[in-house]
Amino acid sequence: MRVLLPLPLAGPYDYLAAENLGLRPGDFVQAPLGRRSVIGVVWDDADDRQETKLPRERLRNVASRLDTPPLATPIRRFVDWVAGYTLTPPGAVLRMAMSVSAALDPPRPIFACRMTPAAPDSGATADRKLTAARRRVLSALRGGPPRLPRELAREAGVGATVVRGMLDLGWLELIQTRRAPAATPDGARAGPVLSADQRRAADPLVDALAGGFSVTLLDGVTGAGKTEVYFEAIAATLRAGKQALVLLPEIALSAQWLKRFAERFGAAPGEWHSELAASARRNTWRAVAAGEARVLVGARSALFLPFPELGLIVVDEEHESAFKQEDGVVYHARDMAVVRARLTEIPIVLVSATPSLETTVNVEQGRYRALHLPDRHGDAALPKIEAVDMRRTPPPRRAWLAPPLRDALASTLGAGEQAMLFLNRRGYAPLTLCRACGHRLQCPSCTAWLVEHRLAGRLQCHHCGYASGLPRECPSCGAEERFAACGPGVERVAEEATALFPTARIEIITSDTIGGPATASAFVERMEGREIDLLIGTQIVAKGHHFPALTLVGVVDADLGLSGGDLRASERTYQLLHQVAGRAGRAERPGRVLLQTYMPEHPVMQALVSGDRARFLATEAQARRRGGWPPFGRLVAIVVSGADEAEVDRTARQLGKSRPRGDDFEVLGPAPAPLAILRGRHRRRLLLKAARGVNVQPIVRDWLGGVDPPNSVRLQIDIDPYSFL
Ligand code: ADP
Ligand code: ZN
Repeated sequence: MRVLLPLPLAGPYDYLAAENLGLRPGDFVQAPLGRRSVIGVVWDDADDRQETKLPRERLRNVASRLDTPPLATPIRRFVDWVAGYTLTPPGAVLRMAMSVSAALDPPRPIFACRMTPAAPDSGATADRKLTAARRRVLSALRGGPPRLPRELAREAGVGATVVRGMLDLGWLELIQTRRAPAATPDGARAGPVLSADQRRAADPLVDALAGGFSVTLLDGVTGAGKTEVYFEAIAATLRAGKQALVLLPEIALSAQWLKRFAERFGAAPGEWHSELAASARRNTWRAVAAGEARVLVGARSALFLPFPELGLIVVDEEHESAFKQEDGVVYHARDMAVVRARLTEIPIVLVSATPSLETTVNVEQGRYRALHLPDRHGDAALPKIEAVDMRRTPPPRRAWLAPPLRDALASTLGAGEQAMLFLNRRGYAPLTLCRACGHRLQCPSCTAWLVEHRLAGRLQCHHCGYASGLPRECPSCGAEERFAACGPGVERVAEEATALFPTARIEIITSDTIGGPATASAFVERMEGREIDLLIGTQIVAKGHHFPALTLVGVVDADLGLSGGDLRASERTYQLLHQVAGRAGRAERPGRVLLQTYMPEHPVMQALVSGDRARFLATEAQARRRGGWPPFGRLVAIVVSGADEAEVDRTARQLGKSRPRGDDFEVLGPAPAPLAILRGRHRRRLLLKAARGVNVQPIVRDWLGGVDPPNSVRLQIDIDPYSFL
């Protein structure tokens, strides 16, 4: 019998199992490993059952079977598939599916109070022991199910001792119970009346639920009602008795989404993200595995949860690079979600106003179906987007807002409407240098400048989290207090805006000011309640939000994302700016968007101003096709890293020398990574570039199998890389 352990080992291990355990593939078991005991899963290999090579007498026994629902077959095949694709040990992938081992411990018993026949009934007025407090407890219990003692006391407005006294009297007794299941979303509740366009998109999504595996792109402008449309598919999934999974790029910020969901379905969905407390993770994992959580919304790792009855997957904002997991098991949650849907034979819906080129090409080639929502819902129109040519109308010296944007802000704020300034840069200034000698303040363990955060009074490295106070003297020439801040971050823009509009209520929103769901929803409320006039934020405010009174969006530096050698720089900038622009004018009042740029002729700016997405994508596709870049070719990045530069170099050179050769692929590098040092580790990159049809995994496996790096050097394999740092 083979058991896969959630550890980065080569594969499943062989064990013996007593007949009477009745073990079957998918069962969770406790198995010995060395001196430890580990929880693993009985594994059946996808293709053939490799016979064990060890003699029987060397095999150890599985200790016991856990009382947990087994890991369903499609999930086991998914774990195998992801491991094979990403070239990671299957146990490392299984670990993501088990994620909270405590969830597998037997649940702690819960005891609830219920009334016994000894309790006096409500008419018993003569009973001296029936005090007013005790009477309230009894009447609380009469109106509902058994309650935990603590909850019962709270509900009746009495102290815990009152309940304890009634237990002693024998009026109440404790019974063992299960955690009361949370209210479940109701698929039978009516949603909003859909427009004809929305109906035309929702109907095929609902029909797809009966049709096995399919991929549908739901492509609609910002504010078109895409969420309402896929809510219809979720409702139908619930009615069919299946579970639904919704992946969002940044679940911690999805306050508005959660509120809308609860209003539509009468109950909150299960949530899964990195900020959940351990107990919440454990309960959610169990609720999913037991089929109690009917709808789960989560970040990328939710994809590995053990849904037994998954019927639908939705990937909202499918173009978002946040779906790419960059460390540990490196995978793209959108792509793996499609795989999970295929293995589970269920439909998946990819949702976006700016679909990725990957998805667009899959639609063109007929692999995915597309449904379109061409207009905003109701009377809302798409905002008017204009470029502000910074060469012709530059901002004043040491300022960042050009006259046209200043004028627009003045008239929007003057009219009592809300405005937003977008700059994808946290802090006050991205670079601090010494005016005496030109020295630039750099992170001691990364190839990166320190970013000044003036409000917090610190310099920070955005790559490793290093922080220090601003030094008084230049570390290079010793000059005192000669530092100059170069370039703007959101704090600096806020400073300028405050000087221009001293009475406006201005707020900065970045990942520094929004830590989690609670602060995010408080912000949303302030914005909806019109307690903020001017919002200044990074990409955290760019997505998803619906603020009816927000009519002006100013992009402080529209060119910011275009520099650097990233192959998706144009595509990403277009998507991000389009999203940001989409925040403006979402209700009756029309929206206006100003893009400050030094390159108004750049295809990205042209596409945004003209609204001609198709042409932009066609140009982008042509360039990628010509160069053989994704999605028309395939890439695998290998990052060699370690603290000892010489050893890193030696390993990288060795990889370069032993590079595989072939007609339809090539290896580029090794070269120092743009982030040549990160957290004190030196980094070198190699890139395998192949034609689309090439099966890259065996090539990479053979290649890396032939080198034997020292222990201090790490090789990270990134199939389909999105980051080139
Ligand atoms: P998208 O996801 O495409 O950006 P949303 O689903 O957020 O668009 O819809 C934009 C706004 O319009 C939301 O406030 C939503 O509740 C509202 N809306 C969309 N469709 C309808 C509808 N059929 N009836 C009522 N309100 C709708
Ligand atoms: Zn650093």
